[in-house]
Amino acid sequence: MTTLQSIKGFKDILPGESELWQTIEEQAKTIFSDFGFREIRLPMLEKTELFARSIGEATDIVEKEMYTFQDRGGDLLTMRPEATAGIVRAYLQHKLYAQDPVHKFYTIGPMFRRERPQKGRYRQFSQINAEIFGVASPYADAQLILVLVHLMNRLGVTDAKPHINSLGCPACRPDFRTALQSFLAGVGDQLCSDCLRRRDTNPLRVLDCKVPGCKDATRNAPALADYLCAECQRHFATVGQALDDRNVAYTIDDRLVRGLDYYIRTTFEIQTSALGAQNAIAGGGRYDGLAQALGGPDIPATGFAIGLDRLAEIVGSIQRPAPPQPHLYIAALGENTRPLAFQCVSQLNTRGIRAEMGYEDKSLKSQMKRANKLGAGYVLIIGEQEIKQGAAPLRNMTSKAQIDIPVNGLADRLTAHFENTSG
Ligand code: AMP
Repeated sequence: MTTLQSIKGFKDILPGESELWQTIEEQAKTIFSDFGFREIRLPMLEKTELFARSIGEATDIVEKEMYTFQDRGGDLLTMRPEATAGIVRAYLQHKLYAQDPVHKFYTIGPMFRRERPQKGRYRQFSQINAEIFGVASPYADAQLILVLVHLMNRLGVTDAKPHINSLGCPACRPDFRTALQSFLAGVGDQLCSDCLRRRDTNPLRVLDCKVPGCKDATRNAPALADYLCAECQRHFATVGQALDDRNVAYTIDDRLVRGLDYYIRTTFEIQTSALGAQNAIAGGGRYDGLAQALGGPDIPATGFAIGLDRLAEIVGSIQRPAPPQPHLYIAALGENTRPLAFQCVSQLNTRGIRAEMGYEDKSLKSQMKRANKLGAGYVLIIGEQEIKQGAAPLRNMTSKAQIDIPVNGLADRLTAHFENTSG
């Protein structure tokens, strides 16, 4: 019989890798707390309508990537392809704006998109998201970029740089859109089939198409920067200035348009050369109109999403957290020694001391081999003879020094010994 395999594009995070994920998540949580963000945890399933109305009908995600199904009650539901829409939904549903004018949230969890799987691109992937609600100021955008830069520094990711752009606003973007569309009308024969479609539905997306022919065709396309209104120009300049003041290097990238419709003004990505084609570790931007578009008050907002799978790949090439090693291994020889060994190990475990034992009836040699494999600091050898004599040898696996520990009150005596030897 063949064993079952996971679904294409869905991967397992095994021990060894999971410690790396934990390290990243803990570091991110510490930074979020330092910068004043609080955690929000949301459902993975939402009504399909939420994503169609927020991400945009003419985006790749909504057009072809969502895991959507009708549940047994007939409701049309979607596995969340991103977190922002759900966070806005929760923010409006619970009227959080009425409790406080400013909210800073973060959330960590899996997202689902039916993309073509490849290295760095999965159908279930995880994101670390951060959102600031109620602040129109460019300093909120700058703060998010600083959080990202700070996290990369803490994790030792040196080859990561913010790329920033402004997408304009409803006042100035339509003029740019019109200019771009008339430019694209003249180069139709050079565009890929996706871009031919995007030209009508979402022309800005043509600008960041990775197909070489499309890149060539749009080399002389109108630049967004030339169409920004005074307010958008000021906003963008302040973001840049705030980063300059913190000595954060960044690249202004007027091709950075990103795949979701709701962005206005500032957009940004953290890019690296370490990942090949999938070079974005994180992306985000401002989405002031989204709360209102989803039926709420007109509240400005800005946020980002880090691709945790990609970040883990990079951090894993820099550091590998060592697997946790037991402080003590009890080699229990003979069935009658096992109750004492088990009692002792579980007492130590509940005191926060990592201890393991030989569960099965194995020779001393094989148990010592196991202790070595686990990297135990000490091994206590208990045989029936030791119980009779009232003392068992404790071996320091590094120095090979050995002392006898009385078996009476064994867990207390071991705890005291480890405390005295400070480990
Ligand atoms: P987005 O939500 O599309 O703005 O993406 C934000 C970040 O999530 C990207 O910069 C990637 O790091 C990550 N990401 C997006 N899609 C995937 C995917 N299919 N597989 C792995 N990571 C992804």
